[in-house]
Amino acid sequence: VNTQKGSYNVHIGEEVYDLFSSDYHELLMNADKVAIFADETAGALHLEKIEHSLQSANIPFVVHILPAGEKIKTPECYISCQSFLLQHNFTRHSVLIAFGGGACGDLTGFVAATFMRGIPFLQCPTTILAHDSAVGGKTAINMPEGKNMVGSFHQPAGVLFKPSLFKTLPEREKRSGMAELFKHALLADQDWTESLLLSPSFPNLSEELLTVELEKGIRVKAEIVAQDEFEHGVRQFLNLGHTLGHAIEAYFGFGEVSHGECIMIGMAYSLILSEEFGEISPEFTSRFIEFAFASGYPMEAIAKVEFNPLLQFMKKDKKVHSGEMVFVLLEKPGIPFTQTISEERCEEAYKELKIRLK
Ligand code: NAD
Ligand code: ZN
Repeated sequence: VNTQKGSYNVHIGEEVYDLFSSDYHELLMNADKVAIFADETAGALHLEKIEHSLQSANIPFVVHILPAGEKIKTPECYISCQSFLLQHNFTRHSVLIAFGGGACGDLTGFVAATFMRGIPFLQCPTTILAHDSAVGGKTAINMPEGKNMVGSFHQPAGVLFKPSLFKTLPEREKRSGMAELFKHALLADQDWTESLLLSPSFPNLSEELLTVELEKGIRVKAEIVAQDEFEHGVRQFLNLGHTLGHAIEAYFGFGEVSHGECIMIGMAYSLILSEEFGEISPEFTSRFIEFAFASGYPMEAIAKVEFNPLLQFMKKDKKVHSGEMVFVLLEKPGIPFTQTISEERCEEAYKELKIRLK
């Protein structure tokens, strides 16, 4: 991934933790202290794998176990992490390792970005969704007023994906991560999109196939980030499905319907909005919706949800500029664009979505 301050690598495969004794050895050995910030669920299941690799590479470290899921992204947890580092005499020359899902990566990245004005960190993601979140350097915590409201851009020193760790993910978390993979396909490539639509085992791909698909997803993310690290232009395309998706997520109170499940509904909505502009046909949207149902996504979740409360959430979205509702739409798979949509059209399209999801 090429960024303003240099580039870093994203590794995917079963042997990636061996890199602690080669590619990342210098970084970790030169650090005066190393801490792993682990989400308690991922930690309980898999921490020994990373611990074992660090021990084999003779790298001393301490472990800080943190709450699983969004609870890790609270201001209280952020402060507790900074205190942990200070109490363990960490300095400007220390290094952090994030071990967990996207939430753990976002928190650890933000702690690393701000501790002593910034120290390096490695991402060791344990969820499929993190093929998106661990790459690109966006870090954040949530505030009572909204999600990801306090954060910074802080790129990791490297990202290490070990796909066998995904086996223990609950089904809804697999669906959540695979929705972001589908998003990457829709943004990048028509043939890839078609192949996913025809995939009978989606979202439960074999480990081998999943590794290949995630690599493709990571490449899409990395290319977009390299072009527009600070989200002034093309990086906005990564918000495909997220304007309505985030509103649904907020409406249900984060967690009830997973992030990616909400994004899948949001992408169906974006396809409906896209129909009047380019080559996306109602047939294509219907195929997508059928695919989403067949893959176990709870598309019916919005059956009783009125448009107005969602509109209020959409208006609060960071991506809304001077009151205009800007959506990422598709000319066709592989060609995204941004488009301002009136409130009236948004409401009409939402009604259409509910009918088509019946
Ligand atoms: P998550 O980190 O909350 O993990 C989901 C659940 O899976 C948690 O309960 C976790 O404990 C558990 N888990 C993690 N690894 C596991 C494993 N191997 N086996 C079993 N259970 C495991 O959620 P997520 O979906 O990975 O990430 C979502 C977060 O990522 C959100 O906070 C979102 O804002 C953020 N995000 C950030 C970016 C970015 O660019 N920084 C992009 C997308 C999403
Ligand atoms: Zn997302």
